[in-house]
Amino acid sequence: MSVDSVFVATTNAHKAEEIAAILAPTGLAVQMAPPLPEVVEDGTTFRANALLKARAAAAILAAPALADDSGLVVEALDGAPGVFSARYAGEGASDADNNAALIAALEARGLQEPAAAFVCAVVIVAPDGTLLGEAEGRVEGVIRWPALGSAGFGYDPLFFHPPSGCRLSELAPEAKNAISHRGEALRKLATSLKA
Ligand code: IMP
Repeated sequence: MSVDSVFVATTNAHKAEEIAAILAPTGLAVQMAPPLPEVVEDGTTFRANALLKARAAAAILAAPALADDSGLVVEALDGAPGVFSARYAGEGASDADNNAALIAALEARGLQEPAAAFVCAVVIVAPDGTLLGEAEGRVEGVIRWPALGSAGFGYDPLFFHPPSGCRLSELAPEAKNAISHRGEALRKLATSLKA
């Protein structure tokens, strides 16, 4: 099915900015959804949570909706923070709280520079909940601390990306979007919708 315009369902202003910038050159027109009731993200996968958010938004807006669910996966922590990335340090935790909790968990296990990946699942659904498109993106790196850099958000200041030679928070927005999990997922999704 061809999709020309979608609402983006996210309450995270940083994500909204990245999504709009990444999709701008793809020809998929997006507009930010108005404030929507909070969705309980109780899925066990990024994809399941993206579907929960997109389906709730599409039903309320009576229009196609796009949602992303994303997070940091550290294999040495059994995949944590994973789907709990936004609330790793508890409900309402700030990025700084979550980063501190991650460092504490790594130090408690004596881990240094563990491998990590950011993962992003994106979906677009129709108002009746039908899945119109989906894609996943991933970027590999290692966790280093203390934090460095002031761009980006979330765990970016702790995520060293070897091909870039720096933390994601030290990259300009276009440079991050060119290599990020979100960039990969959204470009794949836009391409698949055109096919
Ligand atoms: P969501 O809004 O439930 O998908 O939660 C995503 C959480 O994962 C964010 O609050 C961040 O903690 C983390 N995260 C996702 N994408 C990124 C990114 O691009 N950089 C840094 N942290 C990210």
